[in-house]
Amino acid sequence: MLEFADTHNAGRKTLFVEVILPLAIAKNYTYRVPFDMNDAVAIGKRAVVQFGKSKMYTAIIVAITEQAPEKYEAKYLMDLLDDRPVVTAAQLSFWNWMADYYLCHPGDVMNAALPSALKLASETKIILNKEHGVDRATLHDKEFLIVDALELQPELTVSDIAKLLGQKTVMPILKLMFEKNIISISESVNERYKPRRKTFIKLNSAYQDQERLKELFEILEKRAPKQADVVLAYIHMSRNGARVAKNELAEASGAGTAIIKALIDKEILIAEEVNVSRLLEESGEEPELTATLSEEQEAVLASVRNQFNQKEVVLLHGITSSGKTQLYIKLIEEAVAAGKQVLYLLPEIALTTHVIERLRRYFGEAIGVYHSRFNDQERVEVWQNVLNGSYRIVLGARSSVFLPFENLGLIVVDEEHETSYKQFDPAPRYNARDAAIYLGNVYGAKVLLGSATPSIESYYNAKTGKYGFAELKFRYGGVELPQIEVVSIAEETKSKTIQSHFTSVLMEDMQQALSKKEQVILFQNRRGYAPVMLCRTCAHTPKCVNCDVSLTYHKSSGMLHCHYCGYKEDSPSICPACGSAHLEYKGFGTEKVEDELSILLPEARIMRMDMDTTRAKNSFQNILNELEEKRIDILVGTQMVAKGLDFADVTVIGIISADSLLKYPDFRANERSFQMLAQVSGRAGRRGKQGKVVIQTYDPGHRVILQVIENDYADLYNNEISERKAFKYPPFYRMIQFDVKHKDPEKLFHQAEYLALELRKQFGDRVIGPEYPLVSRIRNYYIKTIMLKFERDSISLSKAKDAIRSMILQFQTTKLSKGCIVQPDVDPY
Ligand code: ADP
Ligand code: ZN
Ligand code: ZN
Repeated sequence: MLEFADTHNAGRKTLFVEVILPLAIAKNYTYRVPFDMNDAVAIGKRAVVQFGKSKMYTAIIVAITEQAPEKYEAKYLMDLLDDRPVVTAAQLSFWNWMADYYLCHPGDVMNAALPSALKLASETKIILNKEHGVDRATLHDKEFLIVDALELQPELTVSDIAKLLGQKTVMPILKLMFEKNIISISESVNERYKPRRKTFIKLNSAYQDQERLKELFEILEKRAPKQADVVLAYIHMSRNGARVAKNELAEASGAGTAIIKALIDKEILIAEEVNVSRLLEESGEEPELTATLSEEQEAVLASVRNQFNQKEVVLLHGITSSGKTQLYIKLIEEAVAAGKQVLYLLPEIALTTHVIERLRRYFGEAIGVYHSRFNDQERVEVWQNVLNGSYRIVLGARSSVFLPFENLGLIVVDEEHETSYKQFDPAPRYNARDAAIYLGNVYGAKVLLGSATPSIESYYNAKTGKYGFAELKFRYGGVELPQIEVVSIAEETKSKTIQSHFTSVLMEDMQQALSKKEQVILFQNRRGYAPVMLCRTCAHTPKCVNCDVSLTYHKSSGMLHCHYCGYKEDSPSICPACGSAHLEYKGFGTEKVEDELSILLPEARIMRMDMDTTRAKNSFQNILNELEEKRIDILVGTQMVAKGLDFADVTVIGIISADSLLKYPDFRANERSFQMLAQVSGRAGRRGKQGKVVIQTYDPGHRVILQVIENDYADLYNNEISERKAFKYPPFYRMIQFDVKHKDPEKLFHQAEYLALELRKQFGDRVIGPEYPLVSRIRNYYIKTIMLKFERDSISLSKAKDAIRSMILQFQTTKLSKGCIVQPDVDPY
């Protein structure tokens, strides 16, 4: 109607835009462009649109046409949010590939890709940005109203705000308020990168005067002798102008930090916090900015460079501490010097301040850090800085493949074998390593995969010539690999030399380390106290009310926890089934290891690192700091302790039970066990001292354990690759898993059967199942899985996926499918 009424625009074209909505819908939607926005619409800009009955969304424009949609009347788009596109053409083609490859919707990809503040929708919750004081005098009327309302009610949705202002679209106002830092998105997680800081102590300069110092001593010795000890220790330690760290002073003087604090309060001592990175620069402890490469490193670097002339991807296999990171830095320098951007991917858990600072020291302000634990505000900042080119390098976890690079020249995927590169939930269920390879393709960027324990797939690709290959065989500076000792739990049980879960070998090694003031890391791949509670009278085991799993006892909370859905209940003192008081715990987790250790080694300072102790803000980093500053003697943890930790004084590593790894029911069990054991072992004695690794197991002759001892990756690979071929697994076969879910087990059964039947019509005996998975009910959804395995080379992947896509769509149109969820997962492991 508008075009007839608006004579001014009468001669203009009628334009339509196709947009991606942040929703799981199969098709892009088309909107009509109001004439006055004809010149402003552009691909990659955000549009505010209405979808469904009354909901508003931020959508991304992906095409501009003069073609009206055939099946429906296009609504007008309501507003445009950007002067310049926030999503690049290269990104859109990457999104497209991802939706296609991983069998999901473009909206799923958009949701994963954009920080929340860039995709406001009616339901998005807004809060006042507390860190940023609001100067009311500078606010416009509408902003004033919003700030007022948010002071009364700390959280409002975008649609609440629309109602409040009595207007349909408020996104442009909110966008400006975001940019002015007045508001943010409400989130629970919020952890920013903080430089690591260390506290140093100085004596108040008033006491440089010897007379006054003497007076001070006399007073302190009378009234507070412990304080006098501290001052004495300080004078001793600071003698040659050395800096005195607070924790070292506490240790040397034997006084608690409370006593030091008392001296600080009296202004006798002065505390000063210093960034650790600055410290390193001053002391020159870290490698020089222009580290000279060893002969081996130099040769490998040349080889990588050379291979990049022919190959898009090169795999760098280098044992721990061989200098992989050093090579990455050289290659990054070269790419940046050539005017290119660089993406450096790391597993979430390895992205510690240690690594960040190491890179910051080389590249300064040109480096951005992107991490899912950062808050939305900061993610938007990184996004904008990558888009406008101020960040030349991004150091990031999985989701940084989605950043708006302009001219990416190099992608480094460190620890390329890591499972945490895979996103399991929600869609897109992508693997960031594989996505990075495609991303390299989009930009014409080179991709370097690095690992001490490469995935079987990547190694295969290197062996068959698809990827280039380079190998660092020696640790830098001749640091020795740790000595590995395997101890049979069965034998020590028989000889009664095992104390709770600690063999005599491990006990002795720990005691020795402690007596030398060295540190110990213990690895147990399970959190909580005990995974199963069992009634000895009737064999009853408490299970989760929502999931088909037994509940894990947590001593710290005194409750039984479900590790799948978070459900908790009080731990019973008598059996809920038969009333017997004979309850016992089966198995053991990190809590129990910590608990028993504190009884056996009461003098040791023990800390636990697992999901339970690292939930709070900064807690992960805090534990690492304490370990580094030697306030912890023994760290007990889950796989978190296996990643990227590099501490000089950790000389003993204990694997409490290797069996849970080795017996994992999945075709990757050997590969994963090798990776885990080799990575954990790599933590021992990284600098200077040779470390010791103790592996406790019921199966000391297990092939993988022997491979770990010999550090024989090639043997692992040769075994695995022939098994994979024989039993039809990747890299020879592709796998697509379908999780079929329903709240009604009966209906689920029939629907899964039906879907499998449909799949069989197309793919024959390449379809396996449906089967009940290990945990067949989670959050009250019953689950069956169907697996599709097909030959890598003889079937067209895209044809197969087209068939699957239409099959699922067709299934969803049947009555049968009501209430049923089908989740395809491509390359599920
Ligand atoms: P990786 O990434 O393979 O585990 P790193 O690059 O972290 O190995 O190197 C291990 C240690 O050796 C680090 O402390 C690093 O600073 C040091 N290092 C490696 N190569 C050199 C070099 N060429 N010059 C100086 N120090 C080096
Ligand atoms: Zn019972
Ligand atoms: Zn549960």
